[in-house]
Amino acid sequence: MASVRGRFRVPQGPVDLAAIDPRGRPTGPKDKAAAAKAMSELGSRLDTRQETLFAEGVGGGTRSLLLVLQGMDTSGKGGVISHVVGLMNPQGVRIASFKKPTPEERSHHFLWRIRKQVPEPGRIGVFDRSHYEDVLVVRVDGLVPEDVWQARYAEIREFEAGLAAAGVRIVKCMLHISPEEQAERLLARLDDPQKRWKYNPGDLDARAKWPAYQEAYAAALQQCDSDVAPWYVVPSDRKWYRNWAVAAILAETLDEMAPVFPPPDYDVATERTRLLRLTNPGS
Ligand code: AMP
Ligand code: MG
Repeated sequence: MASVRGRFRVPQGPVDLAAIDPRGRPTGPKDKAAAAKAMSELGSRLDTRQETLFAEGVGGGTRSLLLVLQGMDTSGKGGVISHVVGLMNPQGVRIASFKKPTPEERSHHFLWRIRKQVPEPGRIGVFDRSHYEDVLVVRVDGLVPEDVWQARYAEIREFEAGLAAAGVRIVKCMLHISPEEQAERLLARLDDPQKRWKYNPGDLDARAKWPAYQEAYAAALQQCDSDVAPWYVVPSDRKWYRNWAVAAILAETLDEMAPVFPPPDYDVATERTRLLRLTNPGS
């Protein structure tokens, strides 16, 4: 595995999130200025690869990429979407945000609403929260009986393996923040009138259950990490590091996918001649 992803891949065996420093910088830029420089190079790589993947899809390719973003409130899922996903052409990107299920969604299997948002060939799909909520908030708040959420880890593994087999490259990032950083960010949301719209009183209910959430995250990471659907833990107390890390993980994945422009389904020389004849009728 290439270098950057290897540094963030969830460790094998029991997952201890407390052992991963949310302010850590295991690889890559050491400061904001270096990260800014790295981001401009990563941005053009992402943009080029994304366009090629899109073209591959137009040409009949079956591959797509799915980025799953999970993390506690304020961990930066929205920030990654604007600063990392925003480096690519929005035409080829599909963003899906998963909120508390509607009554209709609740009447279906938990993967029903997820399946509808799986990126089509050539596209890059981004999940802002995901099917993992069904083993996170649902587990912590006991929204379904334990035997139901316990069975979901295997269902998720099977679902993701099926997607991978159908050509969906899966990248899952857990944005790992400390409770201290979350307190600061929540305070900023309350104190800054321009950030108040992001605050939700329910965020404090989740914050109050921090240890239960960390336990639920650890279980999801451990039980649903696989080579076809790897989990990465991204230290996210520093926004610039978080953005760089997700961009680098994505870029490396796209490099490995190495999408290719499709061959034209027309004869280039013939079309050239036709165009020139139409353009200069006398010649
Ligand atoms: P936000 O992403 O901050 O807009 O908040 C979305 C809210 O929806 C969070 O509190 C999630 O925990 C909640 N949510 C998302 N998916 C589910 C689910 N499957 N069951 C219950 N709550 C969910
Ligand atoms: Mg929120």
